[in-house]
Amino acid sequence: MRTRLAPSPTGAQHLGNARTHLIAYWAARRAGGELVFRIDNLDSPRVKTWAIDQAIEDLRWLGIDWDGQPTLQTEHEALYQQTLATLTHGGNLAYPCVCSRKDIAEALSAPHESRFRGEGPIYPGTCAGYRDGDDVPQQPHCWRLRVSDQTLEFDDSVLGIQRCNPAQELGDFPITSKNDQVSYQLAVVVDDHVQGVDVVIRGNDLVASTFRQLDLYRHLGYPPPRYAHVPLVLGSDGRRLAKRHGDTRLSHYRECGVAPEAIVGWAAHSLGLTDTAEPQKAADLIDQFDWSRLPTQDTVMDTDRLFGL
Ligand code: GLU
Repeated sequence: MRTRLAPSPTGAQHLGNARTHLIAYWAARRAGGELVFRIDNLDSPRVKTWAIDQAIEDLRWLGIDWDGQPTLQTEHEALYQQTLATLTHGGNLAYPCVCSRKDIAEALSAPHESRFRGEGPIYPGTCAGYRDGDDVPQQPHCWRLRVSDQTLEFDDSVLGIQRCNPAQELGDFPITSKNDQVSYQLAVVVDDHVQGVDVVIRGNDLVASTFRQLDLYRHLGYPPPRYAHVPLVLGSDGRRLAKRHGDTRLSHYRECGVAPEAIVGWAAHSLGLTDTAEPQKAADLIDQFDWSRLPTQDTVMDTDRLFGL
């Protein structure tokens, strides 16, 4: 198996990211597989250069090792554009869409929210009548993928069988921005395919994206990977980790003199892999890793005074 670490350098890596990265490391090493390191730096306005070096340093500090040199998503730019052309030319897989967020909101009299948390309204299909050969609109447009109107299914290593009808539950989605940059959805499919990744391990906030990506795999004729959507770490109010939950950046713990083993021990214990949260080296827990022990539920915790701070 081959999996990947894929931090987004849009900010610092925090405790929740650390736990996901540790799972990828343990799973790869336990299976005798490979672990590649890819920096997901496509989201250019939000990417911070310092966050790239810091993510590498954070992961090394945690005791994670990977195979080969870290790569950057932006190295795949030419390949993204080639792949995009196969979706936008010579077929009706995708269509140009001029709608703004406001247009979409206004087109929906009773906005139909997706059942997936945070996924926004389902695109009402305003521009879906476009057919290949029609003139591409002159005004700024993105390209949207027509998604399947059938139930897609995958067997997640943590969550078990997941099903979704993308047309009914998610809607057609952009594969580019209005300034021709490929979207996250398309980029990761291309990245994982060219990097030979056959197991994708990531937070369970990306389950809805997986169904979109499965449609892309189908259209591109690539074999889809196996997926493991792992639980998130949430603050005591049940919300995503943010400043209000105190400083949970790995760089902060490092600066405060917290040992990486303390974080590793906490991560393993919070995942049910060990009986106590005593400090441990990441490499010493490889043999304890077992997909069947991971919880499906997110970890809600008070992150304020962890590690004796
Ligand atoms: N870079 C993404 C993140 O940090 C992960 C992308 C993916 O796994 O597809 O959440």
